[in-house]
Amino acid sequence: MLRKVLIANRGEIAVRIVRACAEMDIRSVAIYTEPDRYGLHVKRADESYSLGDDPLAGYLDPARIVNLAVETGCDAIHPGYGFLSENPEIARLCEQKGVAFIGPSSRIIHGMGDKTQARDSMRAAGVPVTPGSDGNLESLEEALKLANDIGYPVMVKATSGGGGRGIRRCDTPQELTSQYPRVISEATKAFGSAEVFMEKCIVNPRHIEVQILADSQGNAIHLFERDCSIQRRNQKLIEIAPSPQLTPEQRQYIGGLAVKAAKAVGYENAGTVEFLLSGNEVHFMEMNTRIQVEHTITEAITGVDVVREQLRIASGLPLSYRQEDIQYRGYALQFRINAEDPKNDFLPSFGRITHYYAPGGPGVRVDTAIYTGYEIPPYYDSMCLKLVVWALTWDEVIARGKRALDDMRLHGIKTTAQYYQQILDHPDFRNADFNTSFVPDHPELLDYSAKRHPSQTALAIAATIAAHAGW
Ligand code: ADP
Ligand code: ADP
Ligand code: MG
Repeated sequence: MLRKVLIANRGEIAVRIVRACAEMDIRSVAIYTEPDRYGLHVKRADESYSLGDDPLAGYLDPARIVNLAVETGCDAIHPGYGFLSENPEIARLCEQKGVAFIGPSSRIIHGMGDKTQARDSMRAAGVPVTPGSDGNLESLEEALKLANDIGYPVMVKATSGGGGRGIRRCDTPQELTSQYPRVISEATKAFGSAEVFMEKCIVNPRHIEVQILADSQGNAIHLFERDCSIQRRNQKLIEIAPSPQLTPEQRQYIGGLAVKAAKAVGYENAGTVEFLLSGNEVHFMEMNTRIQVEHTITEAITGVDVVREQLRIASGLPLSYRQEDIQYRGYALQFRINAEDPKNDFLPSFGRITHYYAPGGPGVRVDTAIYTGYEIPPYYDSMCLKLVVWALTWDEVIARGKRALDDMRLHGIKTTAQYYQQILDHPDFRNADFNTSFVPDHPELLDYSAKRHPSQTALAIAATIAAHAGW
């Protein structure tokens, strides 16, 4: 078993990994850049090392991180999500220096990170892939011709894209002509690669993804699916496990496809295979070769600790479970509480958390790195807390989500929490009848009145009295 793990990440996922290490008697090492000095991951890890003043450079430097792992006697690196998690270079350096990279090999990260290459591998493995270009697009002319063949609407997508960026829908040749260079420039800026490809736009699909686990002995299993159709601008807001919209036959079929995909490429460690589902048609979209933000809801319904399995697999141990051992129970929802103002086009709302009270009670889990007095630095992701609720039935999990969102107190910044209450109240959501257009189709859900909590009102009154009394 691993003895000491360097966590090449920050925020809630770094804390999540520290927790798994602590439960397995593995020492944890945090890294941080100076703006993160007061980060919870620094306080919770057994050791921590500063990587300088720049807010990002340290987290994005594979050579420095691998060297630090060697110097501090770590036998593995966990990359979390984002940052270097899908960077083949850090995996390659780990392979070179004899440090275990907690994820698949650099070859697989490279092959799956390139979405056109991933589509090729899946086609070869007999997994249905969204119709589209064979490789990357070479020119606008080629794009226009292909769009004509497959039919509008089409999606132009960055080949190395991620995080919902570098994706544009085009409904006409005119739109394609204007969007094509925009995707190229966005891809170059965000991912350092100008490569783009085309997919047929699946209209009103559901985003269904499957969590898989594979060990170094060639065993691969799935932990059922998550429905991530509640998205804004291709970014997930609320995730659900299992999907309340799948038949048992569809569930079995998609789970099987994901395992087939993993086995076909010789996958190792935890991964997610993402599909678009339209009617009864399933198409492979991409594979994420890392722990995912929403792994929590899979843990809630299956009881499997996904990060623990990752650490075991990286130690060379076989999976703790066979497919037939994996069962799911009830429903889980995850709310990504973002430091954003939904009423102001979801503008980031960074700053000091003046008061935080965690929701609790039955079936509630919170993964976060915030605490009262913490100042959210403006340099990173706006997601500041993951609220996960579990219950036996769909109706109960909605009620529990509403109750837990209401329990939580998070003052000092604007968040998406109240907006999620509106979504939970919508009849289509309650009837489990939604697809990836739900959020854009319901702008009226943003018309709620921002609630002031009594204690906030009391504080405001006290402040007014104080001002008038000349205190
Ligand atoms: P998940 O697929 O786990 O739900 P997201 O797509 O929300 O994850 O991404 C998680 C984090 O990783 C976000 O901060 C996102 O911006 C970042 N990210 C994901 N893919 C990439 C990529 N290819 N390049 C850079 N950042 C990425
Ligand atoms: P990322 O790497 O940024 O996660 P994905 O390829 O997973 O990008 O796509 C993100 C989201 O964009 C999907 O969940 C879906 O809502 C939408 N999307 C992507 N491709 C298509 C498509 N061909 N048709 C319809 N929607 C799509
Ligand atoms: Mg995706």
